[in-house]
Amino acid sequence: MARYKNLLKSEDLLKYMLETSVYPREHEQLKELREVTMKDIRGDMSVPAEEGQLLSVILKLMNAKKTIEIGVFTGYSLLTTALALPKDGKIIAIDMDRSSYEIGLPFIRKAGVEEKINFIESEAIPILDKMIEETKDGEEELYDFAFVDADKTNYGEYHERLMKLVKIGGAIIYDNTLWSGTVAEPLDFSLLEKTDLEIRNFIMKFNEFLAADSRVEISQVCVGDGLTICKRIL
Ligand code: SAH
Ligand code: CA
Repeated sequence: MARYKNLLKSEDLLKYMLETSVYPREHEQLKELREVTMKDIRGDMSVPAEEGQLLSVILKLMNAKKTIEIGVFTGYSLLTTALALPKDGKIIAIDMDRSSYEIGLPFIRKAGVEEKINFIESEAIPILDKMIEETKDGEEELYDFAFVDADKTNYGEYHERLMKLVKIGGAIIYDNTLWSGTVAEPLDFSLLEKTDLEIRNFIMKFNEFLAADSRVEISQVCVGDGLTICKRIL
């Protein structure tokens, strides 16, 4: 069973939030997908329900229609996005591992939103580069929204590419930007695995980079494992 990822210090407060505002409104297929995913030891990689709810409200407030998702896993955030988009909405969803996506596919189908999704099994960078070429030809319009939740050490690479793919006024959201709170913990090599420490350091650099990036407005949100919402302004 995976541990529920959350930065709140009070378990009771999280439980209150989930039971009062989140679970009663969670789509049936999202709930089923969450339950199946949480049985897997890696289940905590999936976006928690209260974060999914935030993503859904943002997508609807923006009237987003064309989106990109980098890092699909079993598809909780992808199904959330697909449910939030209008009937003619389109999502390019990229993950180098299709097998996890296949766990989520029956739920996506049951929810009736599969036709909005173009899943591409690949490393994200070459696909983003190809997409940039397509927008250059004028073949493809720019995107309204992107959700980034793949390998954290490439967030900087994704950001540069998404600045070309997401339109001015659109949103790019990065997940796990507080990395279990370790970004604010003193360096203690005994507490962290080496890879975890490397990722923490990358995320800290990325957070500083975003804070200084005048092309975006940002908001660091303490939901789930930390989320940074960027609005492209230049
Ligand atoms: N958003 C998902 C969780 C993503 S977990 C959810 O809500 O469930 C991270 C995913 O990123 C994994 O499925 C992994 O296969 C994928 N990933 C890691 N590095 C990648 C890369 N370089 N390119 C594409 N996908 C990658
Ligand atoms: Ca994540």
